[in-house]
Amino acid sequence: MDDTPSSRWFMPVIAAALAAAIFIIDTFSALDMAIAVLYVVVVLLSANYSDRKGLLAIAGLCVGLTVLSFLIMHGSDYDLSSTMRALVSIAAVTVTTLLCLENQAATQSLRAQADLLDLTHDAIFVRDIADTVQYWSKGAEELYGWTSDQAVGLKAAELLKTEFPGPLADIRAELFRTGRWEGELVHTKQDGTKVVVMSRWSLQRDERGRPLAAMETNSDITERKHAEDTLHQTQAELAHVTRVATMGELTASIAHEINQPLAAVVTNGEAGLRWLGRPEPDIAEVKASVERMIANGRRASEVVARLRALARRGEPIQAPVDVNEMIDEVLPLVERERSDHRVTLDLALAQQLPVVLGDRVQLQQVALNLALNAIQAMAGVNERHRRLWITTRMGSSEEGDAVLIEVRDNGPGVDPDSLAKLFNAFYSTKKDGMGMGLSISRSIIEAHGGKILATLHVEGGMLFTVMLPVPKERLS
Ligand code: ADP
Repeated sequence: MDDTPSSRWFMPVIAAALAAAIFIIDTFSALDMAIAVLYVVVVLLSANYSDRKGLLAIAGLCVGLTVLSFLIMHGSDYDLSSTMRALVSIAAVTVTTLLCLENQAATQSLRAQADLLDLTHDAIFVRDIADTVQYWSKGAEELYGWTSDQAVGLKAAELLKTEFPGPLADIRAELFRTGRWEGELVHTKQDGTKVVVMSRWSLQRDERGRPLAAMETNSDITERKHAEDTLHQTQAELAHVTRVATMGELTASIAHEINQPLAAVVTNGEAGLRWLGRPEPDIAEVKASVERMIANGRRASEVVARLRALARRGEPIQAPVDVNEMIDEVLPLVERERSDHRVTLDLALAQQLPVVLGDRVQLQQVALNLALNAIQAMAGVNERHRRLWITTRMGSSEEGDAVLIEVRDNGPGVDPDSLAKLFNAFYSTKKDGMGMGLSISRSIIEAHGGKILATLHVEGGMLFTVMLPVPKERLS
């Protein structure tokens, strides 16, 4: 016996009582009818709780009882019509039994297929168009905590308190249009804990193409999400550490950047005092001096603010970034390094570039790193003029429009075999190098959906190209 509701104990009792009643009426009543045909009902009832052998035995018993009744009633005075009635009854029981056996076999094969679904660790359930759960796999029982009996018949989204990544109407529209949907969902288990799942939906349609049900296959990615978040955080921290380390390399430039306006403040202050100290103070000149003092004070505080932004440790943010402005802000930081190394800067920033979406500070870190690497790489170049080219322009990548930032030098470049290693963590040819700059730069650019490439320029030196995707809906 299986454990379906139809197999409750009273079913065999009813079948037996019915068989007995049919036998008694068939044998002892004088009705001129094929009462024995009703054994069909006994067979149908029994098909619900008997296996193949049991059903055959019951069918055999029904045929046996029909024959017995016939013999008791008509054993001595055989007549055609009662024989025909008996034969019709036997035929009806036989055909019904065969159909039931066929049906049982089909159900068993369906059940075997459903059992296969139970083998997978994924949580699978089928829900009809009204979102009512029709099937609930073993994997679903294990993941969510509700048994199949508990879940079947309930509304899936209500039971699991599903949190969708977007409006449900859009998701359903996609499912109905393409027959599929895939995305991340948050479900709440029976014990109240949340689970992040990668969910795949497939739509089943009836023969007229109308949506019938959806099968949802969910795999638990909570751990993976957690690992991703941790990795993301570690990367952000590493980016911060390397940024601070890079700033350490730039102390000379930074000190110069701040000192210059401060010195100007002092000079202008002194000049202002002199104009004031005259027998006839020249107020116009004093005013001009004070204005220059204010402007220089502002410049110094802007540099400090920029440095603080770079040194700040914060979650990466997504905001529109004007790439040219971002580069303009980085240049003063490497100014001293550049002039100390006698490097000429060729700046070619394309006008009217679209903005990109990203974290300004992180992008500055990349630009700073590429510029600094280029300047340092040219330290040994004496036979030619050292040059640094920084270019921005529109370009395209496989994904569509992109803003390109090119940083090129005419240093020694690297040997072609090392090209692939440049972005590896801890790869450095410098005495005090950490070898993290390019590796971090790459993860920053990739997190922005972009690409960074290192190539040897045909005229010598290295060319680094950063491609940043332009958002589909352009922001201005
Ligand atoms: P680090 O600057 O600490 O060495 P990076 O990851 O920034 O770390 O750079 C890794 C290596 O890539 C450098 O040590 C250098 O050998 C090479 N490299 C980077 N930029 C250039 C360049 N413009 N020209 C030649 N070699 C470069």
